[in-house]
Amino acid sequence: MKVVESVSAMKALARGWRRDGKRIGLVPTMGYLHEGHLSLVRESKRRTDVTVVSIFVNPTQFGPNEDFKKYPRDLAKDIVYLETGGVDCLFHPVAAEVYPLDYRTFVEVQGLQDKLCGRSRPGHFRGVATVVLKLFEIVRPDLAFFGAKDAQQVLIIRRVAADLDLDLEVVTCPTVREPDGLALSSRNAYLGPAERKAALALSMSLRWAERAVAAGERDTARLVAGIRSVLEAEPMARVDYVEAVDPETLEPVGEVRGEVLVALAVFIGPTRLIDNVRLRA
Ligand code: AMP
Repeated sequence: MKVVESVSAMKALARGWRRDGKRIGLVPTMGYLHEGHLSLVRESKRRTDVTVVSIFVNPTQFGPNEDFKKYPRDLAKDIVYLETGGVDCLFHPVAAEVYPLDYRTFVEVQGLQDKLCGRSRPGHFRGVATVVLKLFEIVRPDLAFFGAKDAQQVLIIRRVAADLDLDLEVVTCPTVREPDGLALSSRNAYLGPAERKAALALSMSLRWAERAVAAGERDTARLVAGIRSVLEAEPMARVDYVEAVDPETLEPVGEVRGEVLVALAVFIGPTRLIDNVRLRA
């Protein structure tokens, strides 16, 4: 596996692949890799000729009081993981090159960026959209792979690709979970044993909602209230938001008709976790 740190070297490598007629897959990550990331790698390897994984803990998507400094990092372990997974190239740029001192340009996806997680994390999606567009421009992938666990993120990236006429396909891969239901996340590393147990409330509450819809419930206010009561039964959990929204516009919907995205963010102790499910009548 090639490990590339400079933007110009990454561009040159990708240019060579394109000249050879290779289809390029990109999997953007912040590292501390787990099986969820690997599922994106596998999909990329299945659908493209060369797979690039980027690892970059992107400072512009963290708020001033968020966990940028303590975000888990283990590059040596990630490299072993990626090599085992058959990745062709790790792109691991340094922040000073991605954002030089006089950096000024940001991508905003109006409307979508301010809803759900955007409300509690102002500026987060501006940082995400900006760094992902930069990665797209550096690697110029044919396909880029994202996880459904970050539902708002992938919607925003799709919007950027469509609005800016990007010549690539955005692929959404299903959420990978622990056997007990907890969605894999690098931030799960923050959880102590009691918190790890408490974190099960997120997926349990969504499973409850799926069962309720299967049993005929269509009213989203009752679904959201039911989810909240599952979460609030867990003393270590503090709800940030639970919303039932249109999966394209993220506008609240009152009734389960067609597909509804139920998304939530919950603090387990100091750790903020997210999860979501798509409900269909
Ligand atoms: P992150 O490193 O957390 O920024 O995530 C990098 C990519 O992996 C994003 O597209 C995430 O949506 C995706 N991802 C993270 N966790 C999971 C998971 N449990 N299942 C599937 N994809 C995931």
